[in-house]
Amino acid sequence: MSANLESLYSYKELPVSAPETDNKVALVVAAHPDDADFGAAGTAYLWSKEGWTFYYLVCTDGSKGTADPAMRPAELIRIRRDEQREAARRAGVRDVFFLDYVDGELTYTRSLLGDVVRHIRLLKPYAVFTHEPTAMIVRNSFINHSDHRCAGQVTIDAIYPSARDRLNFPEQIEQGLETHNVKEIFIWGSEETNYETDISEVVEAKIHALNAHVSQGLGAEDPDSQFLKFVRERWRGEDGRYTERFRRVVMFR
Ligand SMILES: [Zn+2]
Repeated sequence: MSANLESLYSYKELPVSAPETDNKVALVVAAHPDDADFGAAGTAYLWSKEGWTFYYLVCTDGSKGTADPAMRPAELIRIRRDEQREAARRAGVRDVFFLDYVDGELTYTRSLLGDVVRHIRLLKPYAVFTHEPTAMIVRNSFINHSDHRCAGQVTIDAIYPSARDRLNFPEQIEQGLETHNVKEIFIWGSEETNYETDISEVVEAKIHALNAHVSQGLGAEDPDSQFLKFVRERWRGEDGRYTERFRRVVMFR
């Protein structure tokens, strides 16, 4: 293993800023409105300040995310779209795309794979961020939502081989899109993290983005709220720094 490669797998030498590339475009593929912000809003905010362009792609319509018996799905979909757009704006994200599959029912289909491939070919990201697809039970304390697992798996399969090879979804090529090689994948929620973004300087921006998701009970600006306590604990390490941690995959070719 070369020294360069070795450093990617070392916990001691964690890179602190964005990768070196001329193609400063990143796509975050998330299952629900709010997942992208939990997973990567701090990184999006920080890298955007370094000249990157971030996009969010949200796979489901978020229509199950309520405990309010009076809330109708169509209304919730509209509210959550607006919240996600506002959160993305707060995180410095350029644009948000919605695939509108039904929340809680995301299934690995050819149609979903093609939709993610199309966005990769359209936006040509250097880096793609997404969910951990392989973990079902995390730390014996919570379940990795089936929509999260599905979105993560489809995204990884979309990167390789589907978006790369012209004979996958050839109708997209005939319509004028080009094949695209994503160079790096960043997976949140992984137990095998090898990369972190130090978001200590911008943690308030991440919280501000999360606060846009009012329908999800994340809107509390009260500094003593349970949500803000949870947020601060979740991303703060023992050394007091706030980080977003990822499993970083650097594509061999
Ligand atoms: Zn989710």
